[in-house]
Amino acid sequence: MSCTSDILIIGNGALGLSAAFASRSSDPDLTVTLVGPRRRPGAASPAAGAMTGTWGEVTAAGLRHAPGRLKHALAVEALKRWPTWLEQLNAGLPPDLRVAHHPGTFIIRNTVAGPIEDDNFAAIVESLDAHGEAHERVRPADVPGLMPNANTRALDALYIPREGRISSAQLLAALERRLEDDPGVTLIDGAAQRLEIDRGRCTGAVLESGETVTAAHTVLAAGARCQALLDGHPALARRIPRLITSVGTALLVRPPMRRHSHVIRTPNRAAGCGLHVVPREGDRLYIGATSTVHLAPRDRPVISDMHSLITWAQQQIDMSLGAARFVEALVGNRPVALDAFPLVGPLSVDGLSMASGTFRDGLHMSPVIGPAMAATARGARDASDALFHPERRPIAAFEDREQAIAAGVAQMMSSAWEHQLIGVKTGFPRRLRLMFERMVRALYDGFEIDYVPPTALLIPVEMVRTLDARAARVKEIEALFADLIAAHGG
Ligand SMILES: Cc1cc2nc3c(=O)[nH]c(=O)nc-3n(C[C@H](O)[C@H](O)[C@H](O)COP(=O)(O)OP(=O)(O)OC[C@H]3O[C@@H](n4cnc5c(N)ncnc54)[C@H](O)[C@@H]3O)c2cc1C
Repeated sequence: MSCTSDILIIGNGALGLSAAFASRSSDPDLTVTLVGPRRRPGAASPAAGAMTGTWGEVTAAGLRHAPGRLKHALAVEALKRWPTWLEQLNAGLPPDLRVAHHPGTFIIRNTVAGPIEDDNFAAIVESLDAHGEAHERVRPADVPGLMPNANTRALDALYIPREGRISSAQLLAALERRLEDDPGVTLIDGAAQRLEIDRGRCTGAVLESGETVTAAHTVLAAGARCQALLDGHPALARRIPRLITSVGTALLVRPPMRRHSHVIRTPNRAAGCGLHVVPREGDRLYIGATSTVHLAPRDRPVISDMHSLITWAQQQIDMSLGAARFVEALVGNRPVALDAFPLVGPLSVDGLSMASGTFRDGLHMSPVIGPAMAATARGARDASDALFHPERRPIAAFEDREQAIAAGVAQMMSSAWEHQLIGVKTGFPRRLRLMFERMVRALYDGFEIDYVPPTALLIPVEMVRTLDARAARVKEIEALFADLIAAHGG
């Protein structure tokens, strides 16, 4: 069997669906086929808290370099676009399927995860001021639903009226419904097995079912699993920072009392996305999220992640959450590129582009990335000029190795504080810092090429059990970077 369209989109997460919707909205004459497994096993989008984290995601380290500032600028643009994007989406939907952006986010600063939180909180305020974005300092006691344990209480709180949340489940369902109702769209419940590339041109894909879909343009948006499809074309794959995954766990619960009206979150910290609670449909509350980088996707939650979320939410957000009813554990693979920056735009193969590598905020970015991918698919080569081109040398987020080591140690200390590992009486803070410094330095010293990898990638190697296995993992990561750099002329 075979099917032909103007555009084939591979992947039915937030990015694939948005690209399909934007393609049809921008040119109703174009036909679109979108393929993706209906249940989306291990996908990031259904597990996302779906905060429209524009300033909540700001970190002091991120704003120090140009790529980090570009990513932030895209988040600012996305926040501006959400109202019109949703208006467009909702226009064709029955009332019960319409999606709302619920504005309002409280950012709290507590002492649980060390001084990195102070730096990031200060960077958030600085960036809000620099953008002239409305915000106000509020008393932690006035944040609805914030009732932490007294010795893990917030010292500061900030209200950002425009930043908020979407329901990821509702967003995916709404996009899917619009596409289902559209006669110009074919939705296939399945998975692509192979990209069809011949003499520098992509003509579509072969699906696991054996069916072939041909298209003038193919958009690869299969999240972390884009890598498996790229691997079928090694010459192309080696020019793109490899996609790995940040596995994230979150919990859906029913709290004993309804008092959480807005997002409450900490800044990013402890090598992760900070602790947050997000009100969800009905009387449910989302507690998120963990973040552990792995080289390949995983589909099951780890119980220590669930344990941490339960403990932290009770201690730092609301003591009454211990009485909450458990609904569901969500696990998703955030697509992360080797250099930790997005991969969005056309590829050197004619008729092929990709959108992935969005790490922690791809759902929020979807009103920017979806239309950019639609324009790229229609042949506008400059549509993604302001984005992160996929075929590139790895982006360097650090000026030198010492800066990366200092950042890595700060993240590890933050984790140690958050896990209450530090015994002050025994002098552990100083000794731990020295130990972490030795560990992080050993990882970076094992990395011999002239590129400083992101801490998000290298620090998790510490979890590998033996020294030999750790050294082997560092070499494995080094080889990936070396090959990428070589593919771009060394
Ligand atoms: C716990 C957690 C919390 C998060 N919180 C937020 C947040 O608050 N705000 C935010 O903006 N972002 C958040 N994110 C990140 C966000 O979810 C991602 O950046 C974004 O959803 C990525 O979208 P995607 O469409 O690229 O990938 P995915 O959502 O992973 O979608 C890819 C899709 O492709 C399909 N697929 C896979 N292989 C194939 C194939 N061979 N053929 C066809 N289809 C295939 C998959 O089934 C999947 O449906 C969070 C992520 C996690 C895991």
